[in-house]
Amino acid sequence: MAEAMEKIKCLIIGSGPAGYTAAIYAARANLNPVVYTGMQMGGQLTTTTEVENFPGYPEGVTGPVLMEDLKKQAERFGTDIRFGIVTDVDFSGHPHKVTVDGSKQIEADAVIIATGASAKYLGLPSEEKFRGMGVSACATCDGFFYRGKDVAVVGGGDTACEEATYLAGLCRKVYLIVRKNYLRASKAMQERVFKTENIEVLFEHNTLELTGSDMGVEGARLVYHKGEADEAVKEIKIDGFFLAIGHHPNSEVFSKYVKVDEQGYIVTEGASTRTNVPGVFAAGDIMDPVYRQGIAAAGSGCRAAIDAERYIGELAH
Ligand code: NDP
Repeated sequence: MAEAMEKIKCLIIGSGPAGYTAAIYAARANLNPVVYTGMQMGGQLTTTTEVENFPGYPEGVTGPVLMEDLKKQAERFGTDIRFGIVTDVDFSGHPHKVTVDGSKQIEADAVIIATGASAKYLGLPSEEKFRGMGVSACATCDGFFYRGKDVAVVGGGDTACEEATYLAGLCRKVYLIVRKNYLRASKAMQERVFKTENIEVLFEHNTLELTGSDMGVEGARLVYHKGEADEAVKEIKIDGFFLAIGHHPNSEVFSKYVKVDEQGYIVTEGASTRTNVPGVFAAGDIMDPVYRQGIAAAGSGCRAAIDAERYIGELAH
């Protein structure tokens, strides 16, 4: 049997830095926010180990502790944080209707979408095994731990080239593993890669598996194929394996109403967090294909709460 409808002022969907920061601001503005955390409570940062670039932690902090701190800060001002997944929305009129876990019905004056993006992985069992122990999807977050070491980056787009160049400034050697015989990245980015001496581009290579021990990744087995008959296995010694094969914005459930770009990122109006639907706002990686940093997401979470507060204020008049 369907549950009774619950009416609230402000619903926040997602529990990464954007969602929790929006909750801190919304709660302090008396919007009595409810947060639905989604499947991965705390978001992408809970899958990283040490975070050293989030301002306010001079000694660094682990991803899970950082997210727990943000959660506690949101709860301190009365945010109602619930585990649940938004399975359907109806943004055709006011108030906005949201279904959680297939049955719970919520009506909200304002909705902040902060469902983030998920990094794509190759899907190798060894990649899963070494996640956080040499396997990373964020060079800016984790590159520092591989200073003076050898690493590999997978991908041929702008992110892969940018991450390879960034890592080349820290590491001894960077392999760029590209499945095609060309880079998809912009010409300028390609040039930077080709001009960097300690980057070796391995065109037409795919990763078969990662090797290592309890200490983490120690190498990768790659296959090179020029043609079906011309296939060879190559082993490289590396301490870090960085995925840069794209991100997947978690916007499917909203895209019937909310405008998304060709990659699925929610489109917002100028520097605001306003979407094309009045009263629906987007914050964090779901609307940011470029910066993708925790602090950037937190900043847009703050903006979303302020935009939502203004919207609700206007509704009242
Ligand atoms: P892209 O989708 O542009 O590139 C993904 C890359 O990963 C491609 O080279 C693709 O190969 C490769 N890839 C995908 N799946 C696999 C797989 N299973 N095995 C091996 N390789 C795989 O993603 P990006 O994250 O690079 O960029 C996303 C968007 O953000 C782009 O529009 C980009 O221009 C933009 N961006 C801009 C930046 C800037 O301007 N400074 C910085 C970063 C991103 P293939 O080519 O064979 O499909």
